[in-house]
Amino acid sequence: TEFISVSELANLMDVSFAEVISKCMGLGIMVSINQRLDAEVIELVASEFGFDVEFIDMEKQLEMEEEEDVDNEEDLQFRSPIVTIMGHVDHGKTSLLDYIRNASVVAGEAGGITQHIGAYQVKLPGGKDITFLDTPGHEAFTAMRARGAKVTDIAVIVIAADDAIMPQTREAISHAQAAGVPMIFAINKIDKDGANPQKIYEQLAQMNLLVEAWGGKFQSQEISAKQGLNIDLLLEKILLEAEILDLKANPNREASGTIIEATLDKGRGYVATILVQNGTLRAGDLVVSGQHFGRVKAMMNERNKRVNEAPPSTPVLILGLNGAPQAGETFKVYADEAEAKDIANRRAQILREQGMRAKKHITLDEIGRRL
Ligand code: GDP
Ligand code: MG
Repeated sequence: TEFISVSELANLMDVSFAEVISKCMGLGIMVSINQRLDAEVIELVASEFGFDVEFIDMEKQLEMEEEEDVDNEEDLQFRSPIVTIMGHVDHGKTSLLDYIRNASVVAGEAGGITQHIGAYQVKLPGGKDITFLDTPGHEAFTAMRARGAKVTDIAVIVIAADDAIMPQTREAISHAQAAGVPMIFAINKIDKDGANPQKIYEQLAQMNLLVEAWGGKFQSQEISAKQGLNIDLLLEKILLEAEILDLKANPNREASGTIIEATLDKGRGYVATILVQNGTLRAGDLVVSGQHFGRVKAMMNERNKRVNEAPPSTPVLILGLNGAPQAGETFKVYADEAEAKDIANRRAQILREQGMRAKKHITLDEIGRRL
């Protein structure tokens, strides 16, 4: 592998590139100013100038620097569950999310959920909150998981009682299982004539997934998303599952979490919906996500209401980033501006280098094919 160019090496040693070139010539190596050098040559030339070279794996070093400093047990407090709804197309995911979104207004909260920001939080009559990820289908779930982000505590698998376990039902189940996320089965459309929940339980049993009524461990609830039937019972089961999971976070530290979605808005600049998973995010905080960063200029909740604080498990829309990070990218708040910029810039450099490597690879490949 090649590392840095002749001119970069000259810069690092604070000598002129001409000196480096002539030293190389002295060693019998002909190089040009922009030529990249391999490790052996770098070491050889550097030693001629009296330097010892240490090769550092930047990606590994970044990973090490970013390693979470763990919270002390006594700093941890209860946090609300984060729930994803998955299932086969047309089985009623959107209907369920919409019903819950609108029902939360009925529960007496001021102002309806006016905008789709990719996630929302509802307060239940008992005072507890549940956060729902409202991203289309399980593509988002898959994308997030591919980036190693764990954003879901509980998966609700929606299955239409007038249909059967379908390919995307199986896919949703295997995603949840692979991620180690507990499942609750919502057997939907029980208002329909052809509804047969028993058939669904039987099919689940054939997959080794026994619901509680069948003596197994999986919670399930028969619902009608369209008529709003038994949704309250489903939400209670989500809270029960959350209690068992004993979800905790430390609200008294700098925030970290995951990007749900991000876009460029004509009027407002870069707009990102983020999910705070640990710590508390505040207006003015310096956020770094991937190669992007910026201070939080404004934060809004799903009711388009400005908020100044977002504790763990809260989704918020933020303004102020200098770019749009990818969905599933993690974010972190930094106290030190120089450190934040340094991390973002180094990530940008790694991405550029990876891009270059990829391009080079394609070129060689293409040449190979042409020959
Ligand atoms: P998604 O593809 O999983 O998001 O499914 P949708 O929520 O878009 O629902 C697909 C269709 O099923 C729509 O026409 C809904 O009106 C209908 N639907 C969803 N839930 C129910 C239900 O509980 N009962 C009945 N009768 N229809 C439903
Ligand atoms: Mg849908």
